[in-house]
Amino acid sequence: MHKEALTDRGIVALTIAAIGAMIIIGIAQPAVAQRTTSEEIIRGIIEQVSPLQHPVGDTLQPIRGSRLTGWLPEDDDEAREVLLALNERGVSLFANWRVGNDDARAFALRLGRLQQELGLAVSVHATSAMTGFFNGDESTFHVAEDGSTYSWQLHGARKMGCAFRLDERAEAIRGQWQDLVNAYSEAGLTLDWVSMDWYSDGPVEWNESWEASKRCVVCRENVAGIEHFGTFQQALRTLRGELQRECAVKVVQAQFPDVLIGNWAVAPHDGWRYWFDFYETIPEGVPIRTEQLAEYRPWADEFSHTGYTYANPTCYPWDDMYAWYPEFDTDFRWFYMLMKAGTNAARNMPTDLPMITWVKWRPTPVRGEKEPAPAMSLEVYREFLAHQLLRGGDGFMMWSRAEEAVDEVAAIAPVLDEALRWRDFLEEGEPVLFELANRPTTVVSALRLGDRLLVRRTDFEDRPFPVTRVIDGMRVKIPHRPGEFFVMDICAGGGVRTTE
Ligand SMILES: [Zn+2]
Repeated sequence: MHKEALTDRGIVALTIAAIGAMIIIGIAQPAVAQRTTSEEIIRGIIEQVSPLQHPVGDTLQPIRGSRLTGWLPEDDDEAREVLLALNERGVSLFANWRVGNDDARAFALRLGRLQQELGLAVSVHATSAMTGFFNGDESTFHVAEDGSTYSWQLHGARKMGCAFRLDERAEAIRGQWQDLVNAYSEAGLTLDWVSMDWYSDGPVEWNESWEASKRCVVCRENVAGIEHFGTFQQALRTLRGELQRECAVKVVQAQFPDVLIGNWAVAPHDGWRYWFDFYETIPEGVPIRTEQLAEYRPWADEFSHTGYTYANPTCYPWDDMYAWYPEFDTDFRWFYMLMKAGTNAARNMPTDLPMITWVKWRPTPVRGEKEPAPAMSLEVYREFLAHQLLRGGDGFMMWSRAEEAVDEVAAIAPVLDEALRWRDFLEEGEPVLFELANRPTTVVSALRLGDRLLVRRTDFEDRPFPVTRVIDGMRVKIPHRPGEFFVMDICAGGGVRTTE
């Protein structure tokens, strides 16, 4: 009936790419290139990514990703070797749970058993368990004045309906989660990690949603002031958060109280959204803020209603967002929009809650009808990753196309390795700088531990001299040391002494 969201993204990109390829090369040619297999990706990572000098241990989360799943050697000893080799490179597999699919279930439980035997986190990606609120049943549709029912489309074929007619579906979804939890529990496994990419199902306020809801008698009964977008949005985001808490989080925590569980793009924020997913449009009449050609949308709190135990912000270079900042060069365009999205979560994070960020280096041509936008340099992408860690990040997840997966992991791993030299800062340090000037100049991030700072400074113009930042009321001079983490003492009187 439905396609689970993780796969959806891939199918959209691939299908569009395939259509584009057929148009360009003609139908006599093979329409779809040979896909990179999961085995090729996993073996490719082991061959091409060096083991970390400083293991992630319990300090950071290993890299997990949409393509880091789906294959293990059949022999258990060989499978353990693969899992350990990945772990040495700062990478973890997760199982991709699929409701009703026995093969996926068997793979998940086998991966979980091997992970548990090796002392690795038992990890599952469970979008499928959360999916199906809007299952096409008329009982989930909006209701017009005359009693007729109707749905709307967000993207794909799913018939989106009425946020306030989902009680029965919530029971069914809760059952899907209970089935997942029971499977792990009955196999004697502890579930340590649950991620999701659940985004285009359940209450969503974008595209046609607001218009559809304003015409619905059930929505009007449930949202006083529905004509105000902010009121409507907060009502839907609150409900969306509660559905995640009641159907997923509570069910998993009842059996596995220490689980790390979160969902794509659900994170604290400042009330504004500085990025678009590829299928989203702004409803007419929504108040927006603009910067150059970017349009920022209001965003209501969802995270605090979910009970999620990690925040999962999204920092992606969607290719059509490349046009947003024409005043900047390619590197700073991407850096700026990724930092803007990442910092929005970072500076609004509650203390002591992990923040694991969805990232990607190269833009994905999801719309396919044009050449992909140019990518940022690897060097500048790594600067972004470094800043995100020093703004409180605890690790990275990545969605990518199959053929990009090895390169995307190889882009991230060295940054983890370098940062992990300062394990004490990553574990105990407090992020103290969240600045981001709206022009290409100097960007500084730092974790403070007592009277010391772990610093990353990136310069987008030639400024080979110390810059001053105010940290907890003290003026601190940050030396020019591009392209590396460094530790410095905070000295009385604003002086500075850097140390190794
Ligand atoms: Zn409705």
